[in-house]
Amino acid sequence: MGSELLDLVAEHGAEQVAFAADDETGLRAIVAIHSTVLGPGMGGTRFYPFASERDALVDVLRLAKGMAYKHAVCGNDLGGGKAVIIGDPRTARTDDLLRAYARFVDRLGGRYLTAEDVGTTQADMDLIRTVTPHVTGISESQGGSGDPSPATAWGVYHALLAVAEELWGDPSLEDRHVAIAGTGKVGSDLARRLAAAGCRLTLADVREDVVVPLAQELGAELAAPDRVHAVVCDVISPCALGATLNERTIPELQCVAVCGCANNQLATDEDGDRLADAGVLYAPDYVANAGGVINIADELGPSGYDRERAYARVATIHNTVRRVFERATTDGITPARAADRLAEDRLGPPGQPS
Ligand code: NAD
Repeated sequence: MGSELLDLVAEHGAEQVAFAADDETGLRAIVAIHSTVLGPGMGGTRFYPFASERDALVDVLRLAKGMAYKHAVCGNDLGGGKAVIIGDPRTARTDDLLRAYARFVDRLGGRYLTAEDVGTTQADMDLIRTVTPHVTGISESQGGSGDPSPATAWGVYHALLAVAEELWGDPSLEDRHVAIAGTGKVGSDLARRLAAAGCRLTLADVREDVVVPLAQELGAELAAPDRVHAVVCDVISPCALGATLNERTIPELQCVAVCGCANNQLATDEDGDRLADAGVLYAPDYVANAGGVINIADELGPSGYDRERAYARVATIHNTVRRVFERATTDGITPARAADRLAEDRLGPPGQPS
């Protein structure tokens, strides 16, 4: 990586980066702490066969920054952190490797709190918990908050209430038409909540075995996964992959708003401008999908996890999305940029050492 390694760290404005290599278990891991201004850097561990160590470093720096902004906007007193373990979890994952990783996290002394992410599981977090207390998102049976998906769906539901209030002056979704792209863990839970609220639904998923029974259960219409963005409806809810809002899809939108749980919905920053130019209201992804991290943060209080308290805080996403729209109007900017400004109000301007 040469000297450019430190340039990358500077470019992303990270506070600290730590590397671990353990030949006995094959562990190759990087932890990036973007900021501890608001609290310890918290974010998941991604276990992935990165093509190069540079790719892994860039990803962990970018993801840690994203976490810092997410925690800051949603009101968590946590900083941004993220970790990557380089390797294919299907072949490289062993209990010994995870224990070595847990010792690495432990040596950071609580400046970084880990959690589950792509390639790691709740069972992995439970194992890590046997070595270090600096882990979140452990099983309910271990006193943790369990699967974050229902809390994420609850948060997206509240973001949608804010969208309705902004567009129609009333936070009611009754008779509104929402098209959900991706009916996995979050999308299916959201669909059930919206059906109960009296919404008309269109559902799409590449897995017909998942989406067809759900549509039957809820009396929803079906759309092809590659055309769902163009459904004539009130709101498109991206709940599958990232980058679905792009140069090609935005001109085809026939909705008045976008609000879903998928990460990185905008392919580029310019796509936020394209949405605004097209008259489509955008609830920024990392604000709408913060329910999971708000829920997990509740584990860290002195009394431990309390579902009722956590869900009450998740519901404040309604108010946060409203503040984002207000800031966008006041500053004459897109909601995506307004969300960043709200985060920077708490974090300090980008690039400033904390
Ligand atoms: P999931 O894997 O359970 O569901 C994703 C669904 O999308 C699957 O059913 C899959 O078949 C479907 N899908 C894949 N490609 C598709 C396509 N091209 N068109 C339509 N459907 C497609 O994942 P999840 O936990 O529900 O998360 C969904 C998204 O939300 C992801 O981007 C995730 O990163 C993000 N997210 C999830 C959480 C959480 O708490 N689970 C929190 C924040 C963000």
